[in-house]
Amino acid sequence: MITRFAPSPTGPLHLGHAYSALLAHNMARKAGGQFLLRIEDIDQSRARPHWERQIYDDLHWLGITWDGPVMRQSDRFNCYRETLDTLWKAGFLFRCTCTRRDIEEAANAPQEGAGFGPDGLIYPGTCRQSGAPRPGQPLPNDVLRLNMQRAATECSFTELCKDRTGVHQITPEQMRKDVGDVVLARREMGTSYHLAVVLDDAAQGVTHIVRGEDLFDATKIHVTLQKLLQLPTPSYCHHALIRDENGKRLAKRDDARAIAKYREDGASPADIRRMVGL
Ligand code: GLU
Repeated sequence: MITRFAPSPTGPLHLGHAYSALLAHNMARKAGGQFLLRIEDIDQSRARPHWERQIYDDLHWLGITWDGPVMRQSDRFNCYRETLDTLWKAGFLFRCTCTRRDIEEAANAPQEGAGFGPDGLIYPGTCRQSGAPRPGQPLPNDVLRLNMQRAATECSFTELCKDRTGVHQITPEQMRKDVGDVVLARREMGTSYHLAVVLDDAAQGVTHIVRGEDLFDATKIHVTLQKLLQLPTPSYCHHALIRDENGKRLAKRDDARAIAKYREDGASPADIRRMVGL
């Protein structure tokens, strides 16, 4: 069993992160498996070295140890581009020049029937034809979307994914209808969260992914990408979110519940475990 914790160094770790990390860590340790750490810093405009140092520090304090070297996404941009290049040459991607406004307007056109997917409005397909790769055209450094129609016709799979509300089926056809042409590369990053996570989990040989239920829809995209790229699909466990006293989920900017803040106030690692219900 190989589990992982994959925080982004864009703010302090809070109780929700502690819960995820402890669950994944305990799961691996109990099974005699490995627990890996990955720093998800593709968004270089928001990642900061001091947040990364704080992550190591908080995890050590919580008693969490990880195996092997830490993987950092910022070291792997070449790998992400290589996969994009393969998908581009195989005609699975198209270049998208739509602004958010364009997407809103097109999606709101009466014949389109705007639907919402995991990444916001379902893309209405405006650039699907015009942005398709022309013969010999190199991979552009631009916004690239996955042509989900094409993926749906070329891939066939049915995967079951479980959360607290039940078991959900993931099929390419459903992805086409409910998710649409997801962005796989952003101009300023050269990749996207979805693509990077899928390639990293495969490269690290992760077998069990423990993450919050807010990422359930992202999991569907990740499973689809795994099928398309012929990568193994790990087992997913989506845990309940840690909420504040008003029932609101904790956010990165919720500094009040940062682990560092509790430490400063004299809490012990055992207190943190109790607070998250472990
Ligand atoms: N970096 C993401 C986060 O902190 C990754 C979580 C995941 O892929 O499980 O929310």
